[in-house]
Amino acid sequence: MSRKPIIAGNWKMNKTVKEAHEFVEAVKDKVPSPELVDSVIAAPFLALDRIVADAKGSDLKIAAENVHFENSGAYTGEVSPVMLEDLGVDYVVIGHSERRAYFAETDDTVNKKVLASLEHHLLPIFCVGESLDEREGGRWQAVIKNQVTKAFAGVPADQAPAVVVAYEPIWAIGTGKSASSDDANEVCHFIRETVAGLYGEATAEKVRIQYGGSVKPANIANFLAQSDIDGALVGGASLQPESFLALLDGA
Ligand code: PEP
Repeated sequence: MSRKPIIAGNWKMNKTVKEAHEFVEAVKDKVPSPELVDSVIAAPFLALDRIVADAKGSDLKIAAENVHFENSGAYTGEVSPVMLEDLGVDYVVIGHSERRAYFAETDDTVNKKVLASLEHHLLPIFCVGESLDEREGGRWQAVIKNQVTKAFAGVPADQAPAVVVAYEPIWAIGTGKSASSDDANEVCHFIRETVAGLYGEATAEKVRIQYGGSVKPANIANFLAQSDIDGALVGGASLQPESFLALLDGA
C-alpha cells in the first residue's frame, strides 16, 4: 500500500522567534503539495504562536517538540496539549531520545503523552530507537518492541493510523553517521510487524514510519526508496531553509 511520506524538521533548542519566523516565511510557499508529502517543522515552544500564524493558509504544518500529558495544573515550566491545540499546532514530537536521556522521559510518560495528544487532535510523532550497546548486543528487537508496545497502550484501533513512529537509532542522531538504508528498513519493518501484532495487518499498513539519524538532502532518497520507510525526522539538516526544501524535494 502507498503511504504518504512525512518529512519533519526537528529544530531542537535552536532559533529565536525572529529566526523561526524568517525561516517559515522563506519556505512556506515552496513546500510540495500535501497530496505528495506532509511537510512539518517542529519548533521550540516560544516560536509556535508566531509560526503557526505565519504558516496559516500554506501547506507547511507545525509541530511542538514536546508536550505534558495533563491538561492544566501545578506543573511549573510545562506546556499542555490544551495549550497546543488552542494555538493550532498540528503535530507533536514525543519521546525523542534526547528527552529520554536528559529529561527522564520514560515509556510510561511517552504513552501518556501519546494518549493526551490524540485526545486534543495533535498528531503524535513518537520516537523509538536503540543505543549502540543494544544494537551490538543483539537486543534491538526487544528494545524496539517494548518501546512501540508501551507507546501504543490504550490507543484505540481507529486512532492508531494517526500515530507516526520515528525510528531513530540513538547512535545515528547528530553524529553524521546514519544507519544504512537496509538496516533502517529492517527495523522499520519490525516496527510495522509489532504494530500488526497489536492492531492487525490492515492498520499496521496505514501507520507511517520515519527514519531519523543524520538524514541530509544527499541521502534522504535512499531511505525513502525502502519499503517500510515513509519519511524522515531530521535535525541538523532542517535548520536552513534551502536544506529543508531540498529534503522535501528528495521525498
Ligand atoms: C533528530 O533530531 O531527531 C535527528 C535525527 O537529528 P540529526 O538529523 O541531526 O541526526
